[in-house]
Amino acid sequence: MTTLGILGGGQLARMLALAAAPLGVRCRVLEPSPLAVAGHVAELVVGDYADPAALQTFAKGLDVVTFEFENVPAQATDWLQQHVPVAPPPRALAVGQDRIAEKTLFRHLGMLVPEFRAASTCAELHAAVAAVGAPCVVKTRRLGYDGKGQVRLHSGPDLPARIDAAFAELDDPRHGGLIVEAFVPFTRELSVIAVRGAAGAVAVYPLVENHHEGGILRRSHAPAPGLAPGLQRDAVQFATALLEHLDYRGVLAVELFECQGRLLANEMAPRVHNSGHWTIEGSVCSQFENHVRAVAGLPLGSTAMAQPAATMVNLIGELPSRRALLALPGVHVHAYGKAGRAGRKVGHATVVGSERAAVDAAAAAVLALGPGSAAEWGFVG
Ligand code: AMP
Repeated sequence: MTTLGILGGGQLARMLALAAAPLGVRCRVLEPSPLAVAGHVAELVVGDYADPAALQTFAKGLDVVTFEFENVPAQATDWLQQHVPVAPPPRALAVGQDRIAEKTLFRHLGMLVPEFRAASTCAELHAAVAAVGAPCVVKTRRLGYDGKGQVRLHSGPDLPARIDAAFAELDDPRHGGLIVEAFVPFTRELSVIAVRGAAGAVAVYPLVENHHEGGILRRSHAPAPGLAPGLQRDAVQFATALLEHLDYRGVLAVELFECQGRLLANEMAPRVHNSGHWTIEGSVCSQFENHVRAVAGLPLGSTAMAQPAATMVNLIGELPSRRALLALPGVHVHAYGKAGRAGRKVGHATVVGSERAAVDAAAAAVLALGPGSAAEWGFVG
């Protein structure tokens, strides 16, 4: 029996633990919240990631440690690495935590990225915007997520004042400075999810098309419909180069823009990713199972699709009626056990099938459902 430790106890850890069990891998989760939903399906150690006593309790008897979020404090991985193997490598975390490091590496590996500049002071921000040109996006280097921590700037007479306002809004010592990126007039957003095993084998899932609402992922379609020939090959080449450069082990996701028939890289997540949830039913071996296989040193599973089309819909804020949701034919339901709250990802539903139109129609039926009642689902976390 292998015991896998997971830093973070949210839905990603929960789905990792659910995928791990049939492989003979038990999971233990470290999370500051006693309500962590991974605790419903895995052993839960409640404690702070930077607390040596909590880390010690967590690490006891583990074979390997992984994480479900990229903002793991370096103190935690530094301490853990001395006692137990950590995968993916903490270096990937360091890159994934800093948008400048990330884009610099992408470019180094031959990937297209939007023009970008770093800025730490208001004067530097003015200079960076002048260098990149408007329209552009100002983001925090660190700790941004779901579109938070960013401001779009357009050219116009009030641009200098807007730059000042953006600096006032985003400047914070925790953000590690700012990045200015050229605005990409993309046709759509895609992502690629790839996995590298202990012996260096790489497998890549088909490119996914992603749609956001209010900065939060709402729908993912796999494979990305109508993909121009060559883009999947480009994505595989880039993901492979990235995994090999980082001597990576586990699943990695890269968010991409498709623009004028080419791919530009936006950011990476050194972990399983929301745009890969469809793989649970839509592929031969899910991203969660493949991550567990990779970090546990087991052979990788196939990333081929189980059926020609899959769509994943995020359930955000609150779940629909359980009866109504389960009455929809062919819809796979994943409720995370979390209480509803505006903007919170509380579950997802996946439809797979042989026809893109039928799959999307079934996914639209999920989105059309009215809200359910908290009592019906009975979640408190
Ligand atoms: P991020 O936090 O980098 O994932 O950005 C959140 C969202 O903002 C992305 O999913 C895009 O829709 C949009 N976005 C981010 N960067 C750019 C950019 N350079 N050009 C255009 N849109 C962007």
